[in-house]
Amino acid sequence: MSLKVTSIFVCMLLIVTVLPVVGLPIQRGDVNNSNFTQLQYQTLAPGYTPIAPPSTMLETPSVHEFPKTTAIMDDVLISMLEQVNETILLRYLENITSFGPRVMGTEACKASASYIYNAFRNLGLTVRYDNFSLYGTVNNGTNIEATLGGADASSDEIYIMCGHYDSVAHAPGADDNGISIAAMLSIAKIMKQYSFNHTIRFIAFDAEEGGLLGSTHYVQTIYENKDNLIAVINADMIGNTDSEEGKTKVTIYSDYQSRWYFEYASKISQTYFDYIHLKINDAGPSGGSDHVPFWSNGYTAIYFEEYDFSPNWHKNSDTIENVNIAYATNVSKLILATAAETLEIHENAPPDIPASPIGPTQGKPGIEYSYSSSTSDPNGDQIYYWFDWGDGNSSGWLGLYDTGSECVANHTWKAKGNYTIRVKAKDIHNAESDWATLSIAMPSTSNKPMHQVLELLFQRFPQVFPLLRHLL
Ligand code: CA
Repeated sequence: MSLKVTSIFVCMLLIVTVLPVVGLPIQRGDVNNSNFTQLQYQTLAPGYTPIAPPSTMLETPSVHEFPKTTAIMDDVLISMLEQVNETILLRYLENITSFGPRVMGTEACKASASYIYNAFRNLGLTVRYDNFSLYGTVNNGTNIEATLGGADASSDEIYIMCGHYDSVAHAPGADDNGISIAAMLSIAKIMKQYSFNHTIRFIAFDAEEGGLLGSTHYVQTIYENKDNLIAVINADMIGNTDSEEGKTKVTIYSDYQSRWYFEYASKISQTYFDYIHLKINDAGPSGGSDHVPFWSNGYTAIYFEEYDFSPNWHKNSDTIENVNIAYATNVSKLILATAAETLEIHENAPPDIPASPIGPTQGKPGIEYSYSSSTSDPNGDQIYYWFDWGDGNSSGWLGLYDTGSECVANHTWKAKGNYTIRVKAKDIHNAESDWATLSIAMPSTSNKPMHQVLELLFQRFPQVFPLLRHLL
């Protein structure tokens, strides 16, 4: 949280002077107060120096429909919520605050960046540093980006959860904003165990306290890359409670184009209230945190903040002891549920039944034959194949193969007989298809006594009499 006081002052000034004149209500209160209309966040967010706007704003901001599952409780989502754990959250927060104040550009800040990078990597996510110049020093600022890729190969949709990890001088920065980094790691740890259709990036921003420098740099990059960013959740100061009411509410800020996502989070909080225990304070737009560069570039972003603004803000009393971990756990649950629902839990389907093996249907023992098969996966997943040769032997899992591409396997039968070759497929999530089959016959060609003797000799001594097979 930076420059909060300025933001609040200007907001109050507008509430007293401008808004009554133009008739735009801003209400602190419950979700039902959603008669929020088109406020100009630029006017209400003075607490930062905006970057030069891009030459064109995004022309058609994406708006997603509420998923069906927001109306009915989803067992998978509930199992995720039940894993959000105060102990894990606290452990992450202890680690993050162990470096002392994380003032941008300092060794303590870099050490905490390294910790966050490794914590994400240890969860199995794809992690990178996003470096930028800080007050003229090249690469002295460092965002950390961790990606959990979407399972739907046809989706290029990207969602972001973010929060800043730097703090001001002399402040341990537990609530501002180590707690949101701890929440992000906790959420990533749970989400990594599941599969979602779309991609989520977890981003720890640097230099928020210097004027949203890390997020401003990052947003410029994704804008230039034309990333298909759908929605952002920013968390900044989500651990303070002073009142009984404050324990039951979380503030969410949104601008006009982000209202759909605010409403989305509101529905989530209502549907899963028995698990999350929070009502939403609809607070309209606000400056002062890393969602602002997203808004300035036309992206959807909502900003989570504690209902009771911390009296320890930017003070040396911003310590773990003054963070309500149980409350922060509930806020983490709401963020997790909102993100998981918009990302859409991936419903995996197994590959289709493979084509019947293509290869010889007549043959002789001792000769190697080749068989091929292929199939497709409805989700576009890569595929493994398993051939069962009908004589007690199998190929084991072969692969990986791209969906639709051919797999070839070889086998040599040792004895005459009629065999059923079977092939099945599984995807990278271990979902298996049914079997496809093909028969191969290796009949006797002769009843002559000499033939029987030769066959017996070959079966007993295949290495010694390899040429016998041609006589059989
Ligand atoms: Ca699949």
